[in-house]
Amino acid sequence: MTDTAAKTLPAPPPQINVETKTFWDATAEGKLMLPRCNACQVVIWYPRLFCPECGSTDIGWFEASGKGTVYSYTINRRGQGDYRDLAYVVAYVELEEGPRVLTNIVDCDVDQVSVGQAVQVVFHPTSNGAALPRFRPA
Ligand SMILES: [Zn+2]
Repeated sequence: MTDTAAKTLPAPPPQINVETKTFWDATAEGKLMLPRCNACQVVIWYPRLFCPECGSTDIGWFEASGKGTVYSYTINRRGQGDYRDLAYVVAYVELEEGPRVLTNIVDCDVDQVSVGQAVQVVFHPTSNGAALPRFRPA
């Protein structure tokens, strides 16, 4: 069994800007917030100040369920630096609300991850107060 829990996956602090501040502020409170266009209702990912579908700047935020499924993934067994001697999963998770987010699958045997698997968000604190949304098997 190759277990990511055997060695802790690093949690580098994200760079926060005016477009992503609402998102990262919410992660510090354990909430996964997503932007939605108030004009055409499309859920936007990644966070932006305008809608990529219709161009509107009328963007609101709502709390996502934190549920999703593994859309695609890979296992990295040859990391460097803090990732050395660590097998970890890099994945696209398709959120229940639609967006596909690049993330990690954690708290499981990396060899047991599969496409279509149900996952649930977890938050890993970083040094700047924000927390990284990652996912574990639901
Ligand atoms: Zn729109």
